[in-house]
Amino acid sequence: MTAPPHAAWLVDLDGTLYAPLPVKLLMGLSVLCFGLRHAKLLRQFRREHEVLRETMTESVEDPFALQLARTAEKLGRPTDEVERVVRTWMLERPLPFVRRFRRAALLNEIERYRAGGGKTALVSDYPARGKLAALGAERLFDVVVASGEPGGPGRLKPWPDGYLKAAEALGIAPSECLVIGDRADADGLAASQAGMTFRHVAAQERRSAGRTVTRSAHTPQPHKQRP
Ligand SMILES: [Mg+2]
Repeated sequence: MTAPPHAAWLVDLDGTLYAPLPVKLLMGLSVLCFGLRHAKLLRQFRREHEVLRETMTESVEDPFALQLARTAEKLGRPTDEVERVVRTWMLERPLPFVRRFRRAALLNEIERYRAGGGKTALVSDYPARGKLAALGAERLFDVVVASGEPGGPGRLKPWPDGYLKAAEALGIAPSECLVIGDRADADGLAASQAGMTFRHVAAQERRSAGRTVTRSAHTPQPHKQRP
């Protein structure tokens, strides 16, 4: 007997809707060739993201702005300069690679699910509009909850804020939501905290009969007590 279908799919973006390894590799080469002077800034910005995941307890208006401000403070650089570099190198320059390595099978699956009456939301800890456009996926989601964009989450994953906000906006109970994401320690744990089921999309996946093969849906057990 198969499990009943979920009323809503809440989907992560980075590393889930495109294959992350080739995109990271190509962007690493791009920075090496054309943006080496920005490498330290970009590294610090990513580090602040992981620190915020672990340490933020209070909800804030815009976690993306907080991440930019903390990076600027650590490096002693103006926030607007940090933002310009981050937007160029993390949100704009990757777009051709994001499009090239889009997970077509998963995107098609989401499209079929939505056509069959399922509700869908995109939940991201980074601004999402540009990448959604590059993926040709702007119309696949009823709701977008993205850090750095209006209506974004108050806290980053593994806090469940973004997924709960998406479920509320869709009018679907958390227990009827399926979270689809690539990080068990972020998406999976957030799903667990929100009372949702989790489907893990592995970084390197096999393909079979045109379908993306992912690990079976499960609710991960946290290694330690997290938010
Ligand atoms: Mg991800």
